[in-house]
Amino acid sequence: MLSSCLNPSCSAPFRYLYDGRIFTVERFLTSPDGLSTERMIEHYWLCGACSRSMKVVVEQGVATTAPIRTERMAARGVEAPRQLLAG
Ligand SMILES: [Zn+2]
Repeated sequence: MLSSCLNPSCSAPFRYLYDGRIFTVERFLTSPDGLSTERMIEHYWLCGACSRSMKVVVEQGVATTAPIRTERMAARGVEAPRQLLAG
């Protein structure tokens, strides 16, 4: 997951933690019988250039990038978008 920038139009390889931002995505997957729920933590990385204008979002179970609307957001090292996937 962290081998390269998540932005599909960017192929920057992941090398250093201080370059760009790592996004932690927490998801809950319910088993087919509905009796148990598995918590999954996934990590994605955006390179320095992409992380200034993009963030990681989960759409229909797939992690992708979306533009940051507020340009004066406080810089944080880790962001934790959450999504509950109902089985
Ligand atoms: Zn990038």
